[in-house]
Amino acid sequence: MRKKLMEMLEARKDEIIHIRRYLHENPELSFKEEKTAQYILDFYKGKDVEVQSNVGNGHGIIVTIKGGKPGKTIALRADFDALPILEETGLPFKSKNEGVMHACGHDGHTAYLMVLADCLIQLKDEFPGTIKIIHQHAEEVPPGGAKSIVDSGALNDVENIFGIHLLPMAKAGNVGYHSGYSFAGRSYFKLGIQGVGGHGSSPHLANDAIVAGSYFVTAVQTIISRRLNPMDMGVITIGSFDGKGTFNVIKDCVELEGDIRYMTEETKVTIEKEVRRIVKGIEAEFGVQCELTYISDYPPLYNNPDVTAMVKEILESTNDPDIKEVVEYPQLSPSDDFAYYLEKIPGCYFYIGCTPKEIEKPYFNHNPKFDIDEDALIVAAKSVGYVVCGYYGLE
Ligand code: MN
Repeated sequence: MRKKLMEMLEARKDEIIHIRRYLHENPELSFKEEKTAQYILDFYKGKDVEVQSNVGNGHGIIVTIKGGKPGKTIALRADFDALPILEETGLPFKSKNEGVMHACGHDGHTAYLMVLADCLIQLKDEFPGTIKIIHQHAEEVPPGGAKSIVDSGALNDVENIFGIHLLPMAKAGNVGYHSGYSFAGRSYFKLGIQGVGGHGSSPHLANDAIVAGSYFVTAVQTIISRRLNPMDMGVITIGSFDGKGTFNVIKDCVELEGDIRYMTEETKVTIEKEVRRIVKGIEAEFGVQCELTYISDYPPLYNNPDVTAMVKEILESTNDPDIKEVVEYPQLSPSDDFAYYLEKIPGCYFYIGCTPKEIEKPYFNHNPKFDIDEDALIVAAKSVGYVVCGYYGLE
């Protein structure tokens, strides 16, 4: 089956590119991917599979491919939403939806998975088990689509899950993996500090919110330097501090906003606990009133070490000229809601190199000039195809 699947994918290389270009030309924002979802649903029309639409909190689609023999159930996921970015690539198939762009490679993810799924449908009598194809909406905007798909119960029988992300840090042919915590988790906070305004000459009659806020800004950095294990990664950035006022007036209130990143669940809990403690301390120390909004969205993404070791072994032994190298990647700072699947289901999210040809310094994901080498699409399709065959022990 493995050989047959690879030949089928090879023969449909151009079709994958064609689908990718169609999606690239017609991008839609998170939670508004109506036409994209319809395009995917039309693709599966008349095929011998069960298709569920509107899964979760948006346009999520799950295609269930039941194999000829009983066996384990796995899931493969690709996301299909785009970003509010004005495209600057100048590609002949650039976005027709001005101000919206597939700048994260989700067009490529969806294109390879549609064709791979169709090949697996045709070969379904030959594998033991069930494969659930997840076409996921809204990866880019919290709360995201993944969590709602997990919460819907549609994946309760799934034993392992796999997905890939196109990353332009390496050339097509490069496949990357990282075991354990791989992508950062993220939290947001907003802190309002209420003091008492007054005349600049008479601080004893007022209660300066700017001074209290300034202590908070410096104190909160001690969480990273004094509370975290120095071997653990953590970032606290105060990106906004609205202290603008008049030079001789003591400000009555300020509002601060911050961004927090971490690589483990433990660090996430520690940072939140310490931020809350410092806020209480600022209230006690300065006699101000604080209002804290603290929201954690995507958790750190954890690749199961056993499943990742299996993926690595399968990919290293393909002898396929399209898969030129399989290398370990470092931990990466972006966040991805694939992390929610991995909280419930052991799995592996791995990377497909896609630096455009003849480009030295590629534009990273979310850049208006972001582009991929389309040769990476067959690498994605084959890599995930090999993992499916290897998983089921199919030669
Ligand atoms: Mn992405």
